[in-house]
Amino acid sequence: MKTLYRQFTVATLFILAISILIGFSIANIFYVTVTKDETIEQNVAIAEEIISTVQNVPYSDESFTNYLQAVAKLGYQIALVDSSGEMQFFGKPFDDTAFPEQAGLVLSENEVYTGLDNFTDDIFMIGHFTNKLHNTVGVPFERNGEPYGLFIRPDTKLVSTDIHSVLIGFVVAIALVSIIGMIWMARQLTRPIVQLTEATKHIARENYSFPLDIRRNDEIGQLSESFNLMQKQLQHNDSARKSFISNVSHDFQSPLMNIQGYADLLKSPGLSDNDRLAYTSIIDQEAKRLSSLTRQLLLLTSLDQGAYPMKTKEFQLDEQLRGVVRKYRWRLEEEDINLSYQLAPTRFRGDAELLDNVWDNLLTNAIKYNKPGGSIEIILQSDDTGITVTFKDSGQGIPEDALPQLFDRFYRVDAARKKDSTGLGLSIVHQIVTLHHGTIRVNSRLGTGSEFILSFPHPVPTQY
Ligand code: ADP
Repeated sequence: MKTLYRQFTVATLFILAISILIGFSIANIFYVTVTKDETIEQNVAIAEEIISTVQNVPYSDESFTNYLQAVAKLGYQIALVDSSGEMQFFGKPFDDTAFPEQAGLVLSENEVYTGLDNFTDDIFMIGHFTNKLHNTVGVPFERNGEPYGLFIRPDTKLVSTDIHSVLIGFVVAIALVSIIGMIWMARQLTRPIVQLTEATKHIARENYSFPLDIRRNDEIGQLSESFNLMQKQLQHNDSARKSFISNVSHDFQSPLMNIQGYADLLKSPGLSDNDRLAYTSIIDQEAKRLSSLTRQLLLLTSLDQGAYPMKTKEFQLDEQLRGVVRKYRWRLEEEDINLSYQLAPTRFRGDAELLDNVWDNLLTNAIKYNKPGGSIEIILQSDDTGITVTFKDSGQGIPEDALPQLFDRFYRVDAARKKDSTGLGLSIVHQIVTLHHGTIRVNSRLGTGSEFILSFPHPVPTQY
């Protein structure tokens, strides 16, 4: 595998190499276009200065030689050539003393020779620093009536000053610090990624508590923050899923056991008609409970997955509420509950079938958790600000500490559990109201009654 660390290192070294190449080319162009001519001029001027000193003062041959040696010590390589082509060298010896043809013109034509101009075979300025006789400037002069040529070039070793060493040290230090910095940077970048990879492996094994200790203020920090959030959410979902499964299993288990138990009892010989009737009615009740549980679970699952095919249409909401009341009229009479309603004529746009579930749940709850001789009031109001539906009952009420969990799946206030209670109704109500962009509030006082207030925006939204 190509590790990120290795890729980063290779990329940085590559960039460093390219920078050196580009830097060198720019320096080369600068040298060839600006510095080279200045250097030639300078060297020619120095050679002429040496000659004028020699010609103005009548030196003996020995002092002339001593003088040239002294100049050479100052940092020059000198070649003195006479008309016969004989050469005398002063200072550091040349590596290559081949006398270029062009240089002959110094003696024959009294011309100035600038060897740096004649470099065509060496690439870049490197050639200009080679230690060759070729690479000098030459000026003609006369001594004792004889023509001579004085060829000089600065001794690069001697002329490399402290500033050169400082510059070289500077460049080396920059290169070293860059490489060390890059290695450190690469480690800093790859370490959290390695940690994140490790954490994802733990998540794949359903371990949601892998400690991720990345404290950074950059994108990687944000990524690890999001990762921690995701980890918490997954942990929450996982425990919700597990408790959902255990609740579902329990809720299926108890009616099934009842059905099995009473079916066994029905088989007993000599059973009275009354007992048989009682047992079959229990079996019937439990079967209905199972069927309602399955229906509610199916509805919840399809709402959860966003798979429920919404059948949006416009309808009279007041009519629908009246219909629900009609459906439960018999039960209200049976339980001796007085129901009143004020329903303003209201057009609503939504899924009528889904909303029927909402009213059904709220009304059956208001009946189930009411007191004999109690009352229920349904109010439907519609104005410019929106549509409000209120279900108010004079039932047993809900304790304050139960209100936050009221819409949770399988939540039931009464631990003893009513027979026809699943704890799923209000969570379905909440989902459907949210799907219709509405909100639901509960006001309740224990022993006094409860009030469920549903608000929908107005005008009724047309898109779902
Ligand atoms: P279920 O009624 O099937 O138990 P719900 O989700 O409809 O499930 O209700 C959850 C719980 O809220 C009920 O078990 C009940 O304790 C409480 N509850 C709901 N509506 C009322 C109400 N109108 N009055 C008192 N308690 C209520």
